[in-house]
Amino acid sequence: MASIFTRIVQGEIPSYRVAETDRFYAFLDINPLVPGHTLVIPKQETDYLFDINDQDYQDLMLFAKRVSEAIYKAIPCKRVGVAVLGMEVPHAHIHLVPLQSEGDLDFRKEKAKLTPEQFQEIAASIAKSLEV
Ligand code: 5GP
Repeated sequence: MASIFTRIVQGEIPSYRVAETDRFYAFLDINPLVPGHTLVIPKQETDYLFDINDQDYQDLMLFAKRVSEAIYKAIPCKRVGVAVLGMEVPHAHIHLVPLQSEGDLDFRKEKAKLTPEQFQEIAASIAKSLEV
């Protein structure tokens, strides 16, 4: 069965798109640690990040780097943190999280609650920063 992220890529499930190429997709995490928490995925479904072939892995990381630069421009933060868990969704993904402090990367803490309008606005502002 297709992963929930494949269904997002295929447009079956809506998402707040941040960036996209023919092979990669970046969108806002629906339960963000902080506003701007973004997920970067390969469109090709592979469960475990480190099972991805070397070329695709390198290209995914470069795509994540571009997205992280846009997050840094769009969301006030000290750093953009990077995490890989994969405890919930078996489709390789990289978490990019704008950080004010190390506590912002604590996945056990209560998630930020955002309205659809806030999600939309954040996604649009990150997407805009990618273009410039
Ligand atoms: P992990 O697999 O890395 O442990 O966690 C999966 C992440 O995907 C979680 O942060 C969760 O909030 C996010 N997530 C799960 N389902 C969806 C979804 O349908 N849409 C979006 N945008 N994020 C999701």
